[in-house]
Amino acid sequence: MSRHADQDLYSGLIRLHILHHAAEQPIYGAWIMEELGRHGYRLGAGTLYPLLHRLEQRGMLQSATHKAGPRIRRLYTLTPAGQRAMRQARLKVRELFGELFEAERESQTRSVRANRQQATKRRRHSR
Ligand SMILES: [Zn+2]
Repeated sequence: MSRHADQDLYSGLIRLHILHHAAEQPIYGAWIMEELGRHGYRLGAGTLYPLLHRLEQRGMLQSATHKAGPRIRRLYTLTPAGQRAMRQARLKVRELFGELFEAERESQTRSVRANRQQATKRRRHSR
């Protein structure tokens, strides 16, 4: 899959991930980049900052500058609208995950059953 298609597929997950952490504590760009990197999402500043800006414009995040030693950081926190959106999103994510992993469990059960049948056949043949 192309990098662009990947990004398209995961962009919602990345947004939810950001909102999730912003609900826990005020977060800033470099921290988010590192956190997303830890989860295997490589985002450059040129992608991340416009994304944060859009989430702020939509009223999900609010930001304020904060002086951290010699540098000034923009800290993002979740707004009440963001909290409502997250509550909705959690239900949807739970439902999707249930379906994704239900399918996985079923295919595992199927392959265990198929293996057992194969083994039974082999045993019959060897008799
Ligand atoms: Zn995380």
